[in-house]
Amino acid sequence: MEKTNIRAYSQQALTDILVQLGEKAFRAKQIWQWLWQKGVTRFDDMTNLSKGTRELLATHFILQTATLTHKQESSDGTTKLGFTLPDGNLIETVLIPGRDKATVCVSSQVGCKLKCSFCATGGLGFTRNLLPEEIYDQVVAVKRLAEERGMPLSNIVFMGMGEPLLNYENVLAAIEKITAEDGLAMSPYRLTLSTSGIIEGIKRLADDNVRFNLAISLHSAVNTTRDKIMPINKAYPLPKLAEAIKYFVDKTGTRPTFEYLLLKNVNDSLEDAKALAVFCRQFPVKINIIEYNEVDNAPYHHSPDANRDQFVRYLESKNIVVNVRRSKGKDIDAACGQLANKNSL
Ligand code: SAH
Ligand code: SF4
Repeated sequence: MEKTNIRAYSQQALTDILVQLGEKAFRAKQIWQWLWQKGVTRFDDMTNLSKGTRELLATHFILQTATLTHKQESSDGTTKLGFTLPDGNLIETVLIPGRDKATVCVSSQVGCKLKCSFCATGGLGFTRNLLPEEIYDQVVAVKRLAEERGMPLSNIVFMGMGEPLLNYENVLAAIEKITAEDGLAMSPYRLTLSTSGIIEGIKRLADDNVRFNLAISLHSAVNTTRDKIMPINKAYPLPKLAEAIKYFVDKTGTRPTFEYLLLKNVNDSLEDAKALAVFCRQFPVKINIIEYNEVDNAPYHHSPDANRDQFVRYLESKNIVVNVRRSKGKDIDAACGQLANKNSL
């Protein structure tokens, strides 16, 4: 009999199989807790099971995962973790320390197919979607590391490699395990999924009535400019994106965030701010202004402080909620958009 992936089963299906193999149902529950609450990655670590039960598991199932193989710490404490997947592919995850709590930035795909011109991951091309457990394991690893440093993990952002809404089922399955009471039990209100604006995905999130936060990488409210920096805008132009966001806001009653990366002389003028303010009138949103992090081979520059201040002041004068985000981990290429497995090359 071929071994199967133990983490591909629902709790009910796993219970049924284990009962058939002669185990008691409560054992299945214990095994489930080891898998999804404690996040162990070896049957031998399931210490309240008998040796016989652990052997039975090892005979019938595979339990394999992303293995932490690279770790690099920035001068500001931001830590970039490289995981090697069972098929040899590499992904990156970032631990971002705050004052007394930490955030994890997780990847959802190996690479990304969307090729935004300012993003290092886009330059990698696309290899494959991550499995739910490959996403979940990133969170567990960072949670352990943060706790070792005396800093509980409180926030999760899907802002690593990949476009999460092009891996919808696996990302939502991972989020289920991260937020479930018999999983990691983290609050969905502290989890943010960031998308480049896949409209079917946004509508599907609304229909699934998700409770986590949605961030949309807008980066320009001028259609021709957005076309140039984000090729996905050609398939999903701004009016269509606006429609999907309205649908999401109406259904979920939540307020999404727009991420806006300031690129010198590309999207940082007063005219750009005006276009953004007009676009934002359509729904309740808040804006995160992001600093551009230099990426090899990208033709962009960091926007000067004066342009940024003018941009932010204009939005504020229109009563729009604006946050300016300072970047962390730049010295080790761990900041947004810089994840490109450089370490391993
Ligand atoms: N694919 C998703 C999530 C991953 S990217 C998305 O695009 O939203 C996470 C965030 O990093 C996005 O807002 C993205 O636009 C931003 N980003 C990409 N390249 C960047 C760079 N060089 N500097 C700063 N932010 C960048
Ligand atoms: Fe992909 Fe997001 Fe990077 Fe664009 S910004 S290439 S969607 S990871």
